[in-house]
Amino acid sequence: MNCIFCQIASGAIPSAILHKDESAVAFRDIHPQAPVHIVIIPVKHFTNLTELKGIDYDVVAHIFEVANDLARKEGIAESGYRIAVNSGKEGGQVVQHLHFHLLGGRQLSGELG
Ligand code: 5GP
Repeated sequence: MNCIFCQIASGAIPSAILHKDESAVAFRDIHPQAPVHIVIIPVKHFTNLTELKGIDYDVVAHIFEVANDLARKEGIAESGYRIAVNSGKEGGQVVQHLHFHLLGGRQLSGELG
């Protein structure tokens, strides 16, 4: 297993875990781009969005639920936040395990790329 996010999900690599259940894990980004920058991943390894099919999409709904809960806990629910996915090379994805960025705590730019 040489996927860094699989290793974070299993606990083999330490990180600041904020949420963990059977299908999703959330942890603080090691290079935060905003005061709140959390990475939320499915426990099951998907390389990116294009690998999802059928029942896999259930985990996406669950991740949005986790993200909204974390936004409330982090105090950014009212001020606003962004959930972003970089999928594939031209999408800017660096870590090849599907993940969702939860960003907030400052005024984010309107630019998406
Ligand atoms: P991507 O560009 O693939 O969408 O984002 C990958 C994110 O994972 C980056 O924001 C990067 O800082 C974060 N990241 C990469 N390696 C690690 C790590 O070992 N631990 C944590 N907590 N975050 C990481």
